[in-house]
Amino acid sequence: MQGGENIMVILSSPSGVGKTTITKKIQQKYLSFKISVSHTTRSPRSNEVDGVDYHFVTNEKFEKLIKDKKFYEYAKIFENYYGTLKKYVDDSIKKNDLLFDIDWQGTKQLSKFKNLKIIKIYLITSNKNELKNRLIKRNQNSNEEVEKRFNAFDEDIKHWNDYDYIIINNNLDVCFKQIENIIKLYKQKISISSQIIQ
Ligand code: 5GP
Repeated sequence: MQGGENIMVILSSPSGVGKTTITKKIQQKYLSFKISVSHTTRSPRSNEVDGVDYHFVTNEKFEKLIKDKKFYEYAKIFENYYGTLKKYVDDSIKKNDLLFDIDWQGTKQLSKFKNLKIIKIYLITSNKNELKNRLIKRNQNSNEEVEKRFNAFDEDIKHWNDYDYIIINNNLDVCFKQIENIIKLYKQKISISSQIIQ
């Protein structure tokens, strides 16, 4: 996997912490960033567009992609598959910085590629009840789905230690600013080290 000076930013969090909003905000402000569009076997929500939010595929198609080793990483989450295609990443990183909205399992798998310029950021909320409200308000999941996502919280946060930064998202603007600073610093570091190597 090669990317020149382009970087990869992984954002993970328990469901409902605001990761999707932040990812979109980064992409809007920094045109160099592209969001990695994952494949999934989950059904689309009413506001989701195939090819934009996810590539929605059947179980058979996903399992064939696994068998053909087409993924850099994939995981089964809430009984559905989610994965990142190698070809998509390899093509995109040549021209863009990439943002990944993936879980801790995928983060672990991507971390094994030591040559990648990856920053791993974990978003968390300090208020678990607020999280449940957000999941309900989001109103994209059935009650059962809300419960499943809420109950996964304790398991999910056990993996915060695998990340470079942990950010508490109690205020979207503050959280966004912190992520911006992390990205700017990392880009500076990459740029300086590539000048030294030349
Ligand atoms: P949702 O169904 O709410 O869109 O996503 C559920 C979880 O799947 C989220 O934690 C999201 O970060 C994760 N996810 C989305 N795409 C991928 C992917 O390609 N790989 C992995 N490992 N996780 C993903």
